[in-house]
Amino acid sequence: MVTTVILSMLCVHLLCFCVMFLLISTRLNGKRMGMEVFALGNLLLGLAYILQLLGGLANWGAMSVVNHTLTLCAPVAYVLGALRFFDRPTPVWQPLLALAAVYTTVQVVVQAAFGAEARHALLAGSCALLFLIMTLAVLYARRTVARDLRVEMIVFAVLIGGIGALNAVKLLMILQGGLAALDMNSGFQKVFYIYMSFLGTVLPPCAVWLVLRRLTDELRTMAAHDPLTQLLNRRGLMEGLEAHFRSRTAGPAYLLIVDIDHFKRINDTHGHKVGDLVLCHVAEVLRATARKGDLTCRLGGEEFVLIGLDTDRAGAVQLAERTRAAIERSEVPGTGLNQPIRCTATIGVSGEFTSPQALDETLQQADAALYRGKTAGRNRVEHAGV
Ligand code: GH3
Ligand code: MG
Ligand code: MG
Repeated sequence: MVTTVILSMLCVHLLCFCVMFLLISTRLNGKRMGMEVFALGNLLLGLAYILQLLGGLANWGAMSVVNHTLTLCAPVAYVLGALRFFDRPTPVWQPLLALAAVYTTVQVVVQAAFGAEARHALLAGSCALLFLIMTLAVLYARRTVARDLRVEMIVFAVLIGGIGALNAVKLLMILQGGLAALDMNSGFQKVFYIYMSFLGTVLPPCAVWLVLRRLTDELRTMAAHDPLTQLLNRRGLMEGLEAHFRSRTAGPAYLLIVDIDHFKRINDTHGHKVGDLVLCHVAEVLRATARKGDLTCRLGGEEFVLIGLDTDRAGAVQLAERTRAAIERSEVPGTGLNQPIRCTATIGVSGEFTSPQALDETLQQADAALYRGKTAGRNRVEHAGV
């Protein structure tokens, strides 16, 4: 009786969260993050448990066969949903239908050849193996695609490992005690379904948490970057500086303003689209010439900022000269025009600064140096305090 109540509550949970996952997936504007596949997993598992409630556990018949197939397909659906969550586009219906067809056939063969006990043992063994693989995959993901979700991945691995272990115990009990091990009133079945119910309660909010984290991370990235070039914007630059100067060992920084020469002419001659390509190209050059850890930013229009961290005056001037030469040397790719497009830039270098609060003053210094460079003929590096 207790197990039946637990199982009924589990069905309600699974189906409610199935609807919730579906609703969330419709709000994610095309990028569904695997939520619709998690909804499918919940639906399959919910249906499996409904069949179990209707038909009893050890019944041999179509209902029991479908129940076992749904029980095995549900965790596979969760795996496919997780792949989609981690931006690995994957088909869903083909693998699930293929698995359903194969497993249903195998069940019929096993039942005919070895009996009901073997069919139940097959399900427990398959689930134990599948959850073991899932646990290992989650632990692997913690070190690769989900490095930003380490704690969450450990929690998932423990929870999934638990259900894998319970299935392994179930397999052993069936092998030793036969179908009596599946008696719904046995202590083991109570523990098994209480644990399943616990998972059904804990895992869906965890999945919603993952989506929330992904969305807020994306928002934070968008708020800190320029949409055209993907360089930092002013806000991102300030955050980068704050992060740098927070460290006790942070060395001084130098700021370079990089302004494309006669950019208006490029726009006027070749159009705004080519102008945008030039901006993206210069952004690429800045990324490539900056040292790892330096900050690259598009302030607006055709003005860029490069901040050399932990450097000295000679290093900053060297960086500026390297950047200027790289821009002058390179051609803008992908314009589709007959003649190659090149551009030059003038660079103003600030004096040393050691706190994020000094950004405005430092920008003014670099701007003054830039102005000198423009009036002196462009395509040159000028630094503050000369
Ligand atoms: P100087 O050598 O003195 O820097 O001259 P300049 O033509 O580069 O500078 P000016 O400030 O006169 O012109 C900047 C131009 O940049 C004007 C504006 O239309 C263009 N611009 C600003 N933002 C964008 C953008 O996002 N895309 C494109 N294609 N053009 C932009
Ligand atoms: Mg300009
Ligand atoms: Mg300008």
